[in-house]
Amino acid sequence: MNPQLKKYYLVLIVSLVFSFAIQMILNSLGVNPMISVSIVIAVFLILPFMMRRRYMNNMRGYGGDSGTGGGFFGMNSSGTGVRYVCLVCSNKHKGGTCPRCGSKMQRADF
Ligand SMILES: [Zn+2]
Repeated sequence: MNPQLKKYYLVLIVSLVFSFAIQMILNSLGVNPMISVSIVIAVFLILPFMMRRRYMNNMRGYGGDSGTGGGFFGMNSSGTGVRYVCLVCSNKHKGGTCPRCGSKMQRADF
């Protein structure tokens, strides 16, 4: 399973538990059930949205993903067209360790 999707489901579960906790607290305080339910619904809707927004901000520069499907961001540097220049021997390679000298010191070369 996609780890990002897994995280998203985790957020949903956490917000669900959180919502129940809020409802129980509000009920024990004697708040009108209708009001507490609407607060819980609001939290349940806003929390995942905020988490997703934060996730989107992390992804800034990758163009974002407006759909729910989501997918494959070019996190794996190999084969994306970006090349790296070794800082030790200036050899151009595809990222990771330098094939010539084995150094991991590198910079992106666009
Ligand atoms: Zn090198």
